[in-house]
Amino acid sequence: MDKVLGQLPQMAADKKTENKKFFAKLKKKPPKNLDYIMQELHEAEFERTDCLTCANCCKTTGPLFTNADIERIAKHLRLKPQQFIDTYLRIDEENDYVLQEVPCAFLGPDNYCSIYEVRPKACREFPHTDRKKFQQISHLTLKNVAICPAAFNIVEEMKKRIPV
Ligand code: SF4
Ligand code: SF4
Repeated sequence: MDKVLGQLPQMAADKKTENKKFFAKLKKKPPKNLDYIMQELHEAEFERTDCLTCANCCKTTGPLFTNADIERIAKHLRLKPQQFIDTYLRIDEENDYVLQEVPCAFLGPDNYCSIYEVRPKACREFPHTDRKKFQQISHLTLKNVAICPAAFNIVEEMKKRIPV
């Protein structure tokens, strides 16, 4: 996996123009069964991909934290929400709460998440490839293919499977 992760930014850069064109066309005329196709591609990819050998999302980006995330995780850690914020979070340019630093403080050396049961919604949903109306988050996906090998593979499969 380390080799794949080392090559991924360049592989994503090589595909950037092609991917941009694909998503621009997909947005104009998404197939009626796009949600169904994405569900299939997502499930097939995550049967092959073991996130515990990767954790690149936790190591390099980290999620944004909603107020509900903050309250839930703080309660789990027996902290007050403000204590949790002061210890782990900062506000980014878009006014969202994000991690003070990456790799995420909750990621263990074995790639397990120490707050897995209560982890942020954005962690549960990353890389969002089974999201309904997937064409609407193409700007995010174009970034995620450089971070997440599963997202990269899913986009490659989409281009084979969906004529645009
Ligand atoms: S979601 Fe993607 S980046 Fe995160 S651990 Fe799984 S394969 Fe790696
Ligand atoms: S909270 Fe857990 S799943 Fe989310 S970035 Fe941190 S270690 Fe990864």
